[in-house]
Amino acid sequence: MCGIKYFTYLVDKYLILSFINIMIKSLDLLNKLNKNYKNFSPQIILEESIKKTFNKKIVYICSFGTESAIILHMISKIDKEFPVILLNTEFLFKETINYKNYLLKKFNLSNFREFFPNKNDLEVNDDKGELWKENPDLCCNIRKVLPLQKILENYDAWISGRKSYQVGERKNLDFFERLNGKVVVNPLANVDQNFVNNYFEENEIKRHPLFQKGYLSIGCTHCTVKAISSQNPRSGRWYNKIKTECGIHYNLKK
Ligand code: SF4
Repeated sequence: MCGIKYFTYLVDKYLILSFINIMIKSLDLLNKLNKNYKNFSPQIILEESIKKTFNKKIVYICSFGTESAIILHMISKIDKEFPVILLNTEFLFKETINYKNYLLKKFNLSNFREFFPNKNDLEVNDDKGELWKENPDLCCNIRKVLPLQKILENYDAWISGRKSYQVGERKNLDFFERLNGKVVVNPLANVDQNFVNNYFEENEIKRHPLFQKGYLSIGCTHCTVKAISSQNPRSGRWYNKIKTECGIHYNLKK
């Protein structure tokens, strides 16, 4: 092998080994976190993630849906300036926007931002705003996944409100997951519906106005109907379609 070729070979080998090393370290970290926090409460998992594990490099991506108030309330007890971000698809219910305003004020959270889809992406792919009819995956990609990727350039980890009892892809959810090179913290992974109901009651937090009307999981106006089955809170999302998730939780999963 000549000098330059050998040098290139060594560089490639070094890069591959470094990549494998990073992957192993990150898997080690996840295993360790999931093991260490196995018996801890959602509040402690959040507090340790925010203050210690990920320090300032973590953010809450909040849908302001039916149960978002729980994590927002927990965060307000840790740090009222903690960053909270809404992915505004431009198709949110007005009730969700009103509820967002109510929760931010109630918990005195001062570091809220919302992100919208890239204008150019909309012009190219969805100039009529009807992409959700023909290609909901691409619609979610433009309106949720890509804005999220942009936001996460500045963070190592993000908090999600998913729960195992929401079934489907969410069954067997871990507290800590790796997704697209970032860690997702799911502090509510193991809670049940009693926990959720009691939390709202004990802390005197109003429910999302649409929850009272039978919407157990709430996303965009075009893709959300009342829950079809109380056993599956997400049964009203993309009703009559194969799609069950918007993509921010599995797109590009490694
Ligand atoms: S939930 Fe529906 S309207 Fe909202 S981004 Fe996805 S496909 Fe588009």
